[in-house]
Amino acid sequence: MADDRTARTCAECSLCCTVLRVDELGKLGGTRCVHQREGPAGCGIHPERPGICRAYRCLWLQGGLDEGDRPDRLGAVLDVLAVGEGHRLEIREATRGSFDRSPRLQEIAARYRAAMPVRITDVESPLDPDAPFRVLLPNGEEQRVVGDRVSLLRDGAVVEERRLPWLERTVRRLVLAWRLRRLGRD
Ligand code: SF4
Ligand code: SF4
Repeated sequence: MADDRTARTCAECSLCCTVLRVDELGKLGGTRCVHQREGPAGCGIHPERPGICRAYRCLWLQGGLDEGDRPDRLGAVLDVLAVGEGHRLEIREATRGSFDRSPRLQEIAARYRAAMPVRITDVESPLDPDAPFRVLLPNGEEQRVVGDRVSLLRDGAVVEERRLPWLERTVRRLVLAWRLRRLGRD
């Protein structure tokens, strides 16, 4: 895949083919696509690949990251998502703990965090509505969500703990149920 705006190509990277879900193929996030191939071949059905695969451009491919930060080297797929009236940097770890092991990912997160929240998720539990995630907030605080428990950290120390609002818990479960239904797995 190539992006006309940057002249970059995915080359040997096919990390999004593992990390992201593709509803058209019934593929869950965090699982290798059955059509994924090693090396520059990338996709075994390239001419007939689904529309979402044709349309997708990660942040690196769009030129939002340095040349050396290709996702397969970083260990995560990054996107800037529109959320409400603002934006959020989404970091999807290829394996749990990629973010904590990578000074470069932490550097990128710190740069974006000045302007928008940074959400870090791993892809190891795609069917778990209680899968943990964390959000680095622009004010320096961090939210860690595990199941329905939310911890707020300041300077690395927990300063507040609460339950996720019931509405948010319900929405998480409904989204997962809807996704499973689309995938024909309910
Ligand atoms: S993660 Fe980005 S660079 Fe890698 S294959 Fe996907 S779109 Fe291309
Ligand atoms: S169909 Fe091709 S481009 Fe789409 S996820 Fe599978 S391997 Fe990747």
